[in-house]
Amino acid sequence: MRTTRPRLAMAQLLFFDGQDKHVTAEWVAAELSNAGKNISLASVYNTLNSFVEVGLLRQIQLGGANIVFDTNTQDHHHFLDMKTGELTDIPRDSFELSALPNAPNGRSIDSWDLVIRVK
Ligand SMILES: [Zn+2]
Repeated sequence: MRTTRPRLAMAQLLFFDGQDKHVTAEWVAAELSNAGKNISLASVYNTLNSFVEVGLLRQIQLGGANIVFDTNTQDHHHFLDMKTGELTDIPRDSFELSALPNAPNGRSIDSWDLVIRVK
């Protein structure tokens, strides 16, 4: 991946403190703007998607246009706070699921994770 100024600024924001984060593109754009780095939302999305493609981030679809990017790329699940939208990691091995349903129409399961909604 080529190093560009937007990519470097976003890498600093997302990875340099070593803390796992769940972020939206809007949050990233606002944080960069607060730091005096104005990067368009489209550019932020493109960069986040590039990070997903190379395995630096995981994308979590929460329905509709609600997309969150996760710096924790290990297999894990989430609690979703329905009031605040906050995601909390659930370690993959913290509970057991006895079986998965069969995939429809001859397809196969590629990956899976759970989002448990809490209030
Ligand atoms: Zn997570």
